[in-house]
Amino acid sequence: MFAAHYVGDKSFDVQAGQSIKPSAGEVRLDVGFVGICGTDMHIYHGVMDARVSPPQIIGHEMSGIVAEVGDGVDNVAVGDHVVVRPLDYCLACPACDAGHSHVCQNLKFMGIDTPGAFQSSWTVKARTLHKLPANVSLKMGALVEPLAVACHDISRARVTAGEDVVVIGGGPIGQLVALVAKAKGANVMVSEVSETRRQFAEKNGVKTVDPVNEDINAVVNEWTGNKGADVVFEVSGVQPAVDVMTEIAAVRGRICMVAIHSQKPQVDLFKFFWKELELLGARVYEHQDFEQAISLIASGELDLAPFISSVNSIDHIGDAFASMDGNPSGMKALVSLHEEK
Ligand SMILES: [Zn+2]
Ligand SMILES: [Zn+2]
Repeated sequence: MFAAHYVGDKSFDVQAGQSIKPSAGEVRLDVGFVGICGTDMHIYHGVMDARVSPPQIIGHEMSGIVAEVGDGVDNVAVGDHVVVRPLDYCLACPACDAGHSHVCQNLKFMGIDTPGAFQSSWTVKARTLHKLPANVSLKMGALVEPLAVACHDISRARVTAGEDVVVIGGGPIGQLVALVAKAKGANVMVSEVSETRRQFAEKNGVKTVDPVNEDINAVVNEWTGNKGADVVFEVSGVQPAVDVMTEIAAVRGRICMVAIHSQKPQVDLFKFFWKELELLGARVYEHQDFEQAISLIASGELDLAPFISSVNSIDHIGDAFASMDGNPSGMKALVSLHEEK
C-alpha cells in the first residue's frame, strides 16, 4: 500500500507503507476516491499543525471497497462499496449517553485527529461504514460526506416545504445546503460575493444575491413580501454575514450556524429578543444524515457531477490541493487512489 503524508508547509510525501490487518470490529478498505475539504485546505495552510501533528495522513471525504473484515463484523462484506462517517466517538460520555455521539465530548475526527483516507488501504471501525447502492459510483460516493453535512444542517434548522431560505456563503457546503433545501421544497436564495459561485448556484436553479453590490436586506424583503427569511444558514464565517443574518431573518425565524468562525463574531442579540429568533448550531452529521445523503444521490434527486472540478491521482495530490487554493471555481477536487472503474 501507499499513503500521502502531510508533512507541513503545503507539502505531502507519498510513500509505501504497511496495510493494517483489521482487528475484531474493524474493516480494511481499498480506498477509491477522496475529496478535498475546506478543513483539509486549512491543514494544508499549516494553521492546524498543532492539532494534526504532521507527518499525518489526512483526508475524510472518501469512498472505497471492503477488502478484509475482522471478527464479528456483520454490517458489510468483502466487495461492498462503502463510505466512512469519519467520527470516532467514545460511547461513554454524557453526550454519547444522550444519543448525540456525533458531538461526543471526546470526539476524534478521523483524518484530523487520527490517520485519514489519503492512503490506498485504510483500516477503520466497521460502525463508521455506510453501504453505497450499485448505482452510486465511487466518484459520487466521495461527495456523500459533504452532502451529509448539508443534510444535517437542514434537519437541525427544521426546513420544510414552502419556506424561504437564505444561505449566506456559496462555497461547496453552502451550495449543497441550498440544493438539499430545494429538494425539501423550500424557496432558496444564496448570498455570495464571487460571481463564479453565484453562476454555479444559478445553474442549479437557485436564486442568488451579491451582498457587496446589492442591498441584501432589500432584496430579501422584496423576495419574501417584507416577511424576511424563515431560515438563514450562516456558511461564510465572516462578520458581515453575522450582521446580515439577524437583519434578514423573519419574525420567529431560525438561524443555523454552520461556518467555523476563526474570531468570536459580534451577534445582534437585540434582534433575537425583538423577533423571537432561534439560533441553532450544526456540527458534522449523524447516522441518518449519511443515509439521507446516499439516497438523495441514488434516487437521482440531486446531480452532484458538476461539483467535481478535478480528479488527480494520489501521486499528484499536491497539484490537487494547489488547484483548490484561492480558486472560487473549484468546488470539489478529488484524489484517486485506485484505477477508475
Ligand atoms: Zn469535510
Ligand atoms: Zn462520547
